[in-house]
Amino acid sequence: MRPFEYLEPGSLEEAVGLLARPEYGSRPIAGGTDLLAEMKEGVVSPARLVGLSRVPGLRGMEVTADGVAIGTMTTLAEIAAHPTIVSRYEALAQAAGTLATLQIRNMGTLGGNLCQRPRCWYYRHPSVPCLKKGGDRCYALAGSSKYLCILGGDRCYIVHPSDTAVALAALGASVEVHGPGGARWMPVEELFAGPSADVTRENVLGDGELVTCVRLPEPEAGARSVYLKAREREAGDFALASVAAAVRPLGSTVAAASVVLGGVAPVPYRARRAEEYLEGRPVAEVDGAVAGRLAVEGATPMKDNAYKVLLAANLVKRAVARLLDS
Ligand SMILES: Cc1cc2nc3c(=O)[nH]c(=O)nc-3n(C[C@H](O)[C@H](O)[C@H](O)COP(=O)(O)OP(=O)(O)OC[C@H]3O[C@@H](n4cnc5c(N)ncnc54)[C@H](O)[C@@H]3O)c2cc1C
Ligand code: SF4
Repeated sequence: MRPFEYLEPGSLEEAVGLLARPEYGSRPIAGGTDLLAEMKEGVVSPARLVGLSRVPGLRGMEVTADGVAIGTMTTLAEIAAHPTIVSRYEALAQAAGTLATLQIRNMGTLGGNLCQRPRCWYYRHPSVPCLKKGGDRCYALAGSSKYLCILGGDRCYIVHPSDTAVALAALGASVEVHGPGGARWMPVEELFAGPSADVTRENVLGDGELVTCVRLPEPEAGARSVYLKAREREAGDFALASVAAAVRPLGSTVAAASVVLGGVAPVPYRARRAEEYLEGRPVAEVDGAVAGRLAVEGATPMKDNAYKVLLAANLVKRAVARLLDS
């Protein structure tokens, strides 16, 4: 690992000021479970790490009449165990509580989980200079595409690795981004960007910008949600495919539905056709298999990952059954 400087600013303004100087090669570090692995493996070599642990106001959760605000230095374990998250934002509790391992959930933060880098083998290999690292080609095209995307690829075919991002998108969360120009809020889905925007990045954060807070709206009466994930091993494994779904039944009808897929696209993928199918439909007439088929409509699998089409469709079918079967 190359030597680096480590700084611990005592305020958000100081942290932003340190990060806003790209000439120093600065990177924010939260729990370090992803960034330090990248550094040890020689994938990235920042000259300066800006630790966020002493920045006031970034850790903790506040429950208000409008919903919940979560500081991005809050750990995944704290989120998964919070009684309000467990009872009112089930999909987030399930996503945060089952990802990675207990050790990583104890160290890893919400901000780090949202901003972690992709897991593509070729990206993670220090001597493979693929497009995402400024090289001239995608090595996955001639290699293994088993874990890559079936929707939204464009020169790069990563899948977004964060489970919490998928749950937050389905729950209508928004994020606060703090940078040299002040603070701005955006829906969580707008934080992420696919490869067609800039193949070297996965989000819209500019130099010096940090994700500081995630806000979840108060769920409407009767709303419920679920997160289902398929993976190869029971613990410590990323999603082959996942779904976060939320519904609000009104009488015998589905008044509102939100369906977001993980593990299938470079960003959390909103399955609009499935949502349109569910919304306004009498519960008794909902066919989960149809919702599943519509969720993956337009998928263009790669050489080794056609299995993901059926896997994601079946997860949606199961999620719909879990939410609507009484
Ligand atoms: C074996 C293993 C299995 C895993 N399985 C899963 C899984 O199944 N699902 C899943 O979702 N994740 C999984 N992960 C990833 C893990 O959840 C992340 O490593 C962790 O959430 C990152 O959080 P952190 O606080 O340690 O981030 P760090 O490592 O500190 O940072 C990660 C990245 O985010 C940036 N960053 C951190 N905080 C901010 C911020 N507030 N604003 C802007 N940028 C920021 C850093 O610069 C860095 O690039 C796994 C990791 C491992 C090692
Ligand atoms: S999929 Fe993206 S990250 Fe993976 S090798 Fe291709 S360009 Fe690199």
